[in-house]
Amino acid sequence: MRDRFSRMIDYLRISVTDKCNLRCIYCMPADGVLPVRHTDILRYEEIIRIASAAARLGVRKIRLTGGEPLIRRNLPFLISSLRKIEGIEDISLTTNGTLLGQHAKTLASAGLNRVNISVDSLRSRRYGEITRGGRLDAVLMGIQAAEEAGLSPLKINMVPVRGINEDEILDFARITIDTERHVRFIECMPAGSANFWEPEKYITTDEIRNTIETLGTLLPIKVRKNGPSKYFRFHGASGVIGFISALTHHYCEDCNRLRLTADGMLRPCLFSETEIDIRSAIRAGAPDKEIERLLELSIAVKPQGHMLGSISSLSSCVSPHVVKRPMSRIGG
Ligand code: SAM
Ligand code: SF4
Repeated sequence: MRDRFSRMIDYLRISVTDKCNLRCIYCMPADGVLPVRHTDILRYEEIIRIASAAARLGVRKIRLTGGEPLIRRNLPFLISSLRKIEGIEDISLTTNGTLLGQHAKTLASAGLNRVNISVDSLRSRRYGEITRGGRLDAVLMGIQAAEEAGLSPLKINMVPVRGINEDEILDFARITIDTERHVRFIECMPAGSANFWEPEKYITTDEIRNTIETLGTLLPIKVRKNGPSKYFRFHGASGVIGFISALTHHYCEDCNRLRLTADGMLRPCLFSETEIDIRSAIRAGAPDKEIERLLELSIAVKPQGHMLGSISSLSSCVSPHVVKRPMSRIGG
């Protein structure tokens, strides 16, 4: 599947739930967001039908996300069903890792290939504050369990925020020196419901990179089909450092993805409010051809780039409404 701008779209990100067991300060308000009605959440068989149609159109990689995907019951069933779809080559999961200790083995046996674990501090107390109650020891156990289960390469996602955790950037970067883990630094994005983003808290990728380069030069590496992330490595290091910068460097020209929200909306771009209601079509009895048509339509309306504007324009606008849907409902 190619879009109007010749980008190959072969990656589907599926949010399996909007609910989460944490309340990260940059993602959700303290009391969470009003959950989507249970009946509005796609059932597994509906997700499988959409993924099968996407695979017929050329999707090869699937990522499961949320909310927190591990709080949805029977996730291994979904993974093993997706694994059976012809054409799907890679299934990965983005998780906060708190429940991975219990589930890593079963997920790997079901056919999961890899995990990305979001962890924004390696200090217990601070981790608890950022997540509003999460336990770092559970995440560290999750990381270990994932590696023991062969879910590799293990990727750690960190969102650096000024005044909160920027003094840990080097600690995270050092992880890549003696382990094969990937550490990816994500620019904090203005997500609506968290009401958190402010220009003063925001750290650009260039600043993060300058800080990291005090440890050594970063050598660019080519990771096959890496989408909108850029990857580097310290000389002689085993692991990889990645940067995902939605605001300062628009990597939209490399965007290879389509998103499916937990309530069944196809979302061509994280930052555009355009959504196509595939759930209603399925529940109205749409045949496979119609499901494929809606997928093709969402590729056809995929914008060339996002409309967030430059960081300077963001600084002067009312940022909390930039991404209207809560990040926990889109899947990040
Ligand atoms: N609960 C899972 C987790 O935390 O990994 C999956 C869903 S979460 C919405 C997916 C990713 O989005 C996480 O890596 C998280 O750090 C990131 N994210 C959420 N809100 C963000 C924001 N405002 N700016 C940048 N990244 C954000
Ligand atoms: Fe939950 Fe992930 Fe959002 Fe944190 S970032 S509140 S773990 S969905």
